[in-house]
Amino acid sequence: NNNYLLNSKRVDKESKNFPPCMLNIHEKLRKQHRLPHTERFYYTLFLKDIGMPVDQAIDFWRFEYRQAPNGIHSCCHNWEKNEKKFVYGIRHMYGLEGCRRNYTSMNCQRIQSFDSSCTSGGCPFKTFDHTKMLSILNMDSNESLWSQLYELKSRHNYTGACIKYMQSRNLVVIKNCDIDNASFNFTPVKYYKHVSLKTH
Ligand code: SF4
Repeated sequence: NNNYLLNSKRVDKESKNFPPCMLNIHEKLRKQHRLPHTERFYYTLFLKDIGMPVDQAIDFWRFEYRQAPNGIHSCCHNWEKNEKKFVYGIRHMYGLEGCRRNYTSMNCQRIQSFDSSCTSGGCPFKTFDHTKMLSILNMDSNESLWSQLYELKSRHNYTGACIKYMQSRNLVVIKNCDIDNASFNFTPVKYYKHVSLKTH
């Protein structure tokens, strides 16, 4: 349903349809109540592009940034002190402030090209080690799918691995998709749309 508006309170439930990169950011935010700038940027635009209206986005971030940061001692941001800045930042990403640019969320190629060594973000198929990868994919290393994903990963075909995972786990079929040459423009939003169409 294209008219589906994502309510801030439904994000946890909806996150089961997120691609591993966005699920990872979501889980991190829920745990730490803070995100580094780049991840906040990726995630706000992702939520916007899957249907979260600006007022819900403000509610969503306010709920987290009102809480004390968990496990990040150097973080001095909080909603009360920086409310204007946060609200402006969110509205800016929705094209409602400043140059009113219509920002769109990142595609996989861009996410994979950033250096994510200072964050725990980025594309898990590229940056995560075995243990973290199995955990975010909710998989066992004995599953045959795991060796197929690993083979794609070792050929640096991270997007192909992600599409294979999405298709196998959610029984989604993308027509004319050649995983071995997954050079077409795949995005976290496309992942979500393919999966959520199956479940809504
Ligand atoms: Fe996210 Fe794209 Fe990586 Fe999949 S391939 S986890 S959608 S960045």
